[in-house]
Amino acid sequence: MPELSIYSREEVKKHSVPGDAWIIIDAEVYNVSTFADLHPGGAQVLNELAGKDVTEDFYGLHRQDVLAKYARLKIGRLANEEPQYPLPEPGALSKVPYGEPSFFLGYKSPYYNESHTRFRKAMRKIFEGLQEEARLSEDANKPPSAELYRQLGEAGVLATQIGPGPWMKGLTLPGGIKGEEFDLFHELIAHQENARVGSPGFADGISSGYIIGLPPVLHGGSDELQARVVPQVISGQKRICLAITEPTAGSDVQNIRTTAKRTPDGKHFIVNGVKKWITNGTFADYFSTAVKTEKGITMLLIERDDNVETKAIKTSYSSAAGTSYITFDNVKVPVENVLGEEGNGFMVIMANFCKERWYICAAINASSRFITEESFKWCNQRKVFGKPLISQPVIRNKLANMISELEAVENWQENLTYQMMHMDWFEMATRLLGSVALLKYRSTRVAHNVSDEACQVFGGRSITKTGMGRYVEAFQRTYKFAAILGGSEEIMADLGLRQAMRVFPKSARL
Ligand SMILES: Cc1cc2nc3c(=O)[nH]c(=O)nc-3n(C[C@H](O)[C@H](O)[C@H](O)COP(=O)(O)OP(=O)(O)OC[C@H]3O[C@@H](n4cnc5c(N)ncnc54)[C@H](O)[C@@H]3O)c2cc1C
Repeated sequence: MPELSIYSREEVKKHSVPGDAWIIIDAEVYNVSTFADLHPGGAQVLNELAGKDVTEDFYGLHRQDVLAKYARLKIGRLANEEPQYPLPEPGALSKVPYGEPSFFLGYKSPYYNESHTRFRKAMRKIFEGLQEEARLSEDANKPPSAELYRQLGEAGVLATQIGPGPWMKGLTLPGGIKGEEFDLFHELIAHQENARVGSPGFADGISSGYIIGLPPVLHGGSDELQARVVPQVISGQKRICLAITEPTAGSDVQNIRTTAKRTPDGKHFIVNGVKKWITNGTFADYFSTAVKTEKGITMLLIERDDNVETKAIKTSYSSAAGTSYITFDNVKVPVENVLGEEGNGFMVIMANFCKERWYICAAINASSRFITEESFKWCNQRKVFGKPLISQPVIRNKLANMISELEAVENWQENLTYQMMHMDWFEMATRLLGSVALLKYRSTRVAHNVSDEACQVFGGRSITKTGMGRYVEAFQRTYKFAAILGGSEEIMADLGLRQAMRVFPKSARL
């Protein structure tokens, strides 16, 4: 990197021809003489602007991270002028109004304290550092590498996504948080920050299967099973997923056909059947699986062997998520691998669904917030008809819709998180199943609206995979995942109401 010098605007003006082209962006001087031919937008545009201050043009067409990418072209800065748009420090929180949940913008909260801020910054830094790898991985349909997975395990990132519990004892987590002080609001942040990586297939590839597949082991596995499996999975040595859905059983979980028949000596089950759309299944070592035994629906931990076949299913995000079709062909599983009690699997599944749906809400609401922030920035930056977009009332109204809907679901989620903190696993499933279902229903409706408004304000860029609108493009292509997996919108809305009817007082009359 050449040493940076101090220049006057007059000096920069002298370098205004092809082959000797300097430009000013935000009080910093770039030599684009040799870069012009490599410029994705063509040499002509750059050469025409040579010698000038192009700050406004630059920010109308490029994301700020382009400057970091081409930092090697920077040769100096202007005398007596300071940059107006400095690049944020890694892990910095947003200062854009509504760019963070309100506590992280300086407002009071009954739920958060300083440790949550420290934790959020540390997690943001980790996931920001993965953004480039995530994009490349998603484009190449490649899941996060086993090496990255192990690194995330070692850094404690995987542990943070599974929530507070005895398995946290003795761990030091990102931001220096001790395992013992980790609470459900830290976990909420962990899911939010993972989602902000901005590449949904890769984000799910990191830990979606693990987040929903490990809890049945934590809450229903024998001591021996937990002692063996949990450390391997939390440390990133092995991967786990949740296998409930089948080609003939989606919303109607009771209809699963996968069977587990006891061997004559009673020591094993022999499992046969297929599972569909199982996230992380292509690379999982363990499968928390819903099967039917003679006693009814049962959850069973199946370990990968030669009789387990997993094939990738192509979806609209990417195969980075490891979405799979699984065939169990006479798989022999020890009876000790039952999770919970045999025949009581439906209860285990429902309890697990409650937490899974809460996690999906955290992720989709964080993505909606990120997209809202992107839109807010864009509306300030983009000039149309000679004025910033934000000066148009109709555009401000779109942002108002996005923000007001988002704040409602975020605040509802914080309230439900607080309730969950004061309930055990099964109480949560009985008392909060309906509320969490309704929250999920509303959160994905909000995501639908956020996507719609964001697309309109970004115009053509919202359907272009690179450049200013690339996160909006990824969001509009993938937000529907949250509206279907873990229970679709129609089922969520109805479940919420049916649960409310269970406690509706018989005496209530108008
Ligand atoms: C990318 C992806 C990843 C997934 N990951 C996993 C995973 O890791 N593990 C796992 O077990 N499963 C996973 N799933 C499965 C997911 O949970 C199911 O897709 C979901 O439960 C819906 O089931 P279905 O797709 O079979 O839809 P169906 O049950 O066929 O429903 C189709 C439509 O009809 C509506 N509908 C159904 N019944 C009713 C009713 N009674 N009243 C009104 N409307 C109704 C539904 O809302 C839905 O819109 C995943 C799915 C996808 C697409």
